[in-house]
Amino acid sequence: MQVKDRVRELITAARLCYKRGLICGTEGNFSVRVKPDYIITTGRGICKGFLTKKDLVVVDRSGQKIKSVLNNNRNLPSSELDMHLCVYEARSDVKAVLHAHPTTLVAFTVCGQDLNYEILPEIISQFKSIPVAKYATPGTKEVRQSIIDIIKDNDVVVLDHHGIIMLGENILDLYFKLEMLEHYAKTLFIAKILGEPINLPSWAVQKLIKTNF
Ligand SMILES: [Zn+2]
Repeated sequence: MQVKDRVRELITAARLCYKRGLICGTEGNFSVRVKPDYIITTGRGICKGFLTKKDLVVVDRSGQKIKSVLNNNRNLPSSELDMHLCVYEARSDVKAVLHAHPTTLVAFTVCGQDLNYEILPEIISQFKSIPVAKYATPGTKEVRQSIIDIIKDNDVVVLDHHGIIMLGENILDLYFKLEMLEHYAKTLFIAKILGEPINLPSWAVQKLIKTNF
């Protein structure tokens, strides 16, 4: 995929996150790795609902802005960029990172409640688990410490009292997966109001994992 298409997808994913309430105000940050050393990311303090190409910043793997036609502005990269850099350092296979603040998923962490129930077929087959990283102050190096072990073999990390970070090949896929996870959290929340959620039997779970439904 060409760089311009990846930029277009980043903008679409960011706008959709805002539109669907997965971020609000100027929250959230998004990035794509376009070359081993080049990362295109969202600028600081910008509402993603109205994101355009001119709101993006191109940085190298250390987070320094580099010479690029996209950098013809005064934007600084997000204060949470280091979290993205940490992912790209740790996982050479990752080409896109999405960070959002989904209300229901985060509410579970605020109450210290487990998110790992085997109740929905789509979630069981798409996500082996939903790990939660210990609380770390956003925008600091503490975040690296909290996620580094988890991201080695997980493409999703919920951040305690904060948000979620999703990693993978394509930023639109990450957006769709985030929608699914927030939808799952809402289902779990409503199920818990109605009573105690009942997990699917282990044979059904195994079948879902085997058939890759
Ligand atoms: Zn955040």
